Amino acid sequence: MIEQAADMIRSSKYTVAFTGAGLSRESGLPLFGEWPEFDIRVLDINFFKNNYDWAWPRIKDWFYDFYGQAEPNEGHRILKQMEDNRWIRSVVTLNFDDLHQKAGSTNTIGICGSPQRLVCLDCHEKFEADQINWEQMPPRCPVCGGMLKPDILFYGDEVPDPEYKLGLKEANRAKVMLVVGVSGEMMPAGVIPMFAKKRRQTKIIEINIQPTHYTNAVTDIFIQKPASEGLNDLFLALKNNKS
Ligand SMILES: [Zn+2]
Repeated sequence: MIEQAADMIRSSKYTVAFTGAGLSRESGLPLFGEWPEFDIRVLDINFFKNNYDWAWPRIKDWFYDFYGQAEPNEGHRILKQMEDNRWIRSVVTLNFDDLHQKAGSTNTIGICGSPQRLVCLDCHEKFEADQINWEQMPPRCPVCGGMLKPDILFYGDEVPDPEYKLGLKEANRAKVMLVVGVSGEMMPAGVIPMFAKKRRQTKIIEINIQPTHYTNAVTDIFIQKPASEGLNDLFLALKNNKS
């Protein structure tokens, strides 16, 4: 199966990796559901606006301090090397921990955004995290003093990010999509492999520890392994048969 997947990638003109929380979990970042102190409501746009003072110290703890100290794992590093070898052309990720970028991947599209950017809910100006006065909690817009939101996709956000459209564009180009550590439950972003399959008959290779929403619906080759182990097997197969 690994050999078959390697052949598929080798003969593909354009392969896109699509990654999710299962990959970053191996860097010590828990899935939201297995993170006892985590309160998912902070990512609900209405709750966030109505509980701005309460939500921000938690968001800072979780998505800045805790995520900020995480390091890429072997899976991130292999995807970077696969990009160097042009076996994959881009990484589209649901994660907003910047670990692909830290691993050195250059063509990464974070369709759920990044906390390293912030957007003002009042004047709509965008800022880099280092432009913000973090001494003040909750932080305020440096221009108008309005409410700042990490520029990540919240539940209830109306307009998909420009990044989301870029992700769909990549899906539309993909001859092969390598899905890693994504359960497919997170909508609307999780539909990307379905979208690729429907529009372009994209071949789907899936690496997940358990069957998912994708496995029986769109997956052509299912590699039932943890993310970095499956990626490592695939990478070795690609390297051993370079011709
Ligand atoms: Zn503002």
